[in-house]
Amino acid sequence: MATSWTATPERWVTIDHSALAHNIDTIARWVKPAQVMAVVKADGYGHGAVEVAQTAVAAGATWLGTAHVREALALREAGITAPLVAWLHTINTPFEAAVAQNIDLGVSGPEIESVADAARASDLPARIHLKIDTGLSRNGAVPEEWDALCRRASELQQSGIVRVVGVFTHFAVADDPVGESDVDEQLRVYHEAVETARKHGLTVDVRHVANSPALLSRPDTHLDMVRAGVAIYGLSPFADRTAEDLGLRPVMSFGTTVAHNKPADEGTGVSYGYSYRVQKPTRLALIPCGYADGVPRIAEGAPVWIDGQRYRVTGRIAMDQFVVDLHTDREDDATAPVGTTVELFGAKSGIASDAWAQACGSINYEIVTRIGARVPRVHQQWV
Ligand SMILES: *Cc1c(COP(=O)(O)O)cnc(C)c1O
Repeated sequence: MATSWTATPERWVTIDHSALAHNIDTIARWVKPAQVMAVVKADGYGHGAVEVAQTAVAAGATWLGTAHVREALALREAGITAPLVAWLHTINTPFEAAVAQNIDLGVSGPEIESVADAARASDLPARIHLKIDTGLSRNGAVPEEWDALCRRASELQQSGIVRVVGVFTHFAVADDPVGESDVDEQLRVYHEAVETARKHGLTVDVRHVANSPALLSRPDTHLDMVRAGVAIYGLSPFADRTAEDLGLRPVMSFGTTVAHNKPADEGTGVSYGYSYRVQKPTRLALIPCGYADGVPRIAEGAPVWIDGQRYRVTGRIAMDQFVVDLHTDREDDATAPVGTTVELFGAKSGIASDAWAQACGSINYEIVTRIGARVPRVHQQWV
């Protein structure tokens, strides 16, 4: 994280913990009696994993989830003791540390032997969640492999080496109404897989399948626990529904101040490649955020808020900065002098990260997750 030499950072991402707590509480009420796992992988979708985890747990999340064991270990090092699951492993995953730190492991297949070795070495049972691939085709055992995986897990459980806590899967198209029948089919395969696990003597206490789109649109996916990612950050996983429609509050705002302001005559080329030329005399404001800060280079035309007025990115976004034409296409004579507050998206402007996603053919998940390490996160306490 960037070090700032003055109390006020030059660029900032603010993290509104009241909004985060509100979202957790909203989701917890909605899915009750199912439990909520707050998914804090990828540094809490760019919001700060430790801070998000602390507030999420205080606000009612009873589990935490990460992709990698190393992400989970960092949470344990920060003193977070809540139940924690990590599910994406490689031959270099530190399973022994995971077992020693009481981190639950998603298990998709042959890595169960490495997990068992780690448990033997630590002299502690490994807590595992068996994953069935019901159609996403990422990790998880395919149905043909499932019976064998359950049999092996059951053997290891009987020898006290593993403890099977749950069975889970992940949806492919829960964010799209046309995916309704695909969700139905994945659920059907999942429920069969749970039956198989039970036939092998596994109790399967925690059945979990729902990501944000599923938990928000399909109550039949709530089961014992939901894995809530993007929704806890106050973002909508749906193309046709806003966060507000869902009763969620965006947690992240991304801001800075105008770094430079100058006049420009008609015909002036703006930024690399001159993809934009000034059409009539105007002023140009320089915004000191670029693709190194996570402002996507292809987001030309995305909205920008400067002291209450909306503008658009004009010309190429560079590594450190981009330019805004202050007067072309506008009737007002707002001046935006150096030092004026700027917001790319967030609470002041009401601009959603979705607008930036739209400008570059992506999704809000990617916009917030890729904000660079050069931008300090400023955490606003939950009040
Ligand atoms: C990232 C992830 C989630 C959370 O997904 P959202 O759509 O952000 O809610 C849930 N489960 C798994 C397995 C994931 O990898």
